[in-house]
Amino acid sequence: MSLFFPGSSRCGICGEVMASGDDVVAFPAFLPRRHPLWRFSDGAFHRSCFVGHADGGAVQRLYERFLAIMDSRPKGLKSLEEINDWGRDAFNELEQDSTTESNGTDPHAPRSSEDRSVGRKRGGES
Ligand SMILES: [Zn+2]
Repeated sequence: MSLFFPGSSRCGICGEVMASGDDVVAFPAFLPRRHPLWRFSDGAFHRSCFVGHADGGAVQRLYERFLAIMDSRPKGLKSLEEINDWGRDAFNELEQDSTTESNGTDPHAPRSSEDRSVGRKRGGES
């Protein structure tokens, strides 16, 4: 989890120290390190900064998707191996949202499309 300390944590967007009265959003480490929006994972931000950021909406949708995936975790999983197997498949979906055509997963590949919308293809409402 991301820990938020009023008066010492800095906003990941504007870099200002966040005061206890500030309206703040914080995320756990919910994205893989190679994800284009990884810098939002395990971070805390002023709500106004986050909402105003070009990637804010995409991050919000990814996080909601993450919560839904966690929620849908099969109850029968017992061993760590089973949970890891399940997680690899389940969270693949999160990664595919923004790393669509780079199947090679080359960490040095250029990332020019950070603002590509990832919200267009949800539709799994039921
Ligand atoms: Zn800020």
